[in-house]
Amino acid sequence: MTAPHILIVGAGPTGLTAAVELARRGIMPVVIEKRKTASNLSRAVGILPHSMALLKPSGVAQSIQKEAIELQRVIFHEKNKIIANISICDEPNPNDRLFGLAQDRTEQHLLTAFEQMGGHVNYGAEFLSLSQSDTGISVSILGKAFRFDYVIGADGAHSTIRQSLRIPFNGHELPETWSIADVEAENWINPSCFQGFILDNGGISVVVPLENNRFRVIANRPDALQALPIPMEITKLRRASQFKISVRQAETYQMGRVFLAGDAAHCHSPAGGRGMNLGIADAAELAKRIADGTTDGYHAARHPIGKATLRQSERIRHAMSSAHPTVRFIVRNMLRLAQRIAPLRQRFVKNLLDL
Ligand SMILES: Cc1cc2nc3c(=O)[nH]c(=O)nc-3n(C[C@H](O)[C@H](O)[C@H](O)COP(=O)(O)OP(=O)(O)OC[C@H]3O[C@@H](n4cnc5c(N)ncnc54)[C@H](O)[C@@H]3O)c2cc1C
Repeated sequence: MTAPHILIVGAGPTGLTAAVELARRGIMPVVIEKRKTASNLSRAVGILPHSMALLKPSGVAQSIQKEAIELQRVIFHEKNKIIANISICDEPNPNDRLFGLAQDRTEQHLLTAFEQMGGHVNYGAEFLSLSQSDTGISVSILGKAFRFDYVIGADGAHSTIRQSLRIPFNGHELPETWSIADVEAENWINPSCFQGFILDNGGISVVVPLENNRFRVIANRPDALQALPIPMEITKLRRASQFKISVRQAETYQMGRVFLAGDAAHCHSPAGGRGMNLGIADAAELAKRIADGTTDGYHAARHPIGKATLRQSERIRHAMSSAHPTVRFIVRNMLRLAQRIAPLRQRFVKNLLDL
């Protein structure tokens, strides 16, 4: 039997995971990416144990682990006062660890593994349209026509593939402007910990280590650094920008021979740090199903998981950004109890680490 001919559109973490997972099973996909070069954006930081387990057979998890920071604790502040300080590295299973690494570095590890397997990403090649029949899909790439058995749309939240198939992307945009800063800083407090700050009037900001003395700051405010209640000694500002967030999910992840994965299929706020991890899991499942010939079950397997993750991420965002005194009281006390009572702490850590 000849291997199916696969096109992956998009070389973000989702597309690259699909590429690696297909290539290691002997199916070499064609990967196209409209950017001219690899990305240098830090976006997702937290890599969950589930993603590490999926990326282990290809060796990608091992190379990520060599570079990533193993996060030790999660510390919550109400403005500048610590309200909970919870260890997340006491789980007996050594695989239950949360790693911090800038997304561009995670993508680089995936790309290196794919290239070592003989794969190649075609940068500067933009997907524009397709037409599909029962037997295959015709796609025009850089003015030339190609035929594929399956196409994977891993082309992000504004997916052209999803739009060209007219798949509804149901949901809404959040009203507030979010901001992100990627900085190098000295003498930052608890530098190997994830730190969340509950601010006045429904504000939240988060600081996560990316590497030694490099941090990602994110807030639901227009200026992430200004929102921080504890000043940072910044030595270099690598990047700062603002963005809007949508909470949406594609009505279907599969239409004929075309599949959606990652942000093309779902997007939500960074609360809970699930976006990239969900995309990695979609991609790994889809690659396995293509290799096993069980693609028909892909939507049924992944759509409910995406829906549950969106709901959970929204629950966290609502709780952490509520300005209501009762909600703040409950959140503050739940975090304090999670620090002090072992079963609650274990449940908190499980919720944080599980996908
Ligand atoms: C500020 C911020 C912070 C975040 N923090 C976290 C976090 O802590 N944890 C977490 O898990 N997630 C986080 N996320 C979400 C995470 O970054 C995304 O979920 C992740 O990037 C999705 O990966 P993807 O490969 O599906 O899509 P993308 O990373 O968007 O990649 C899609 C790729 O497709 C390419 N493309 C698009 N259209 C075409 C076309 N027509 N032809 C060819 N190529 C195309 C794009 O250039 C892009 O490279 C964050 C996101 C943001 C914005």
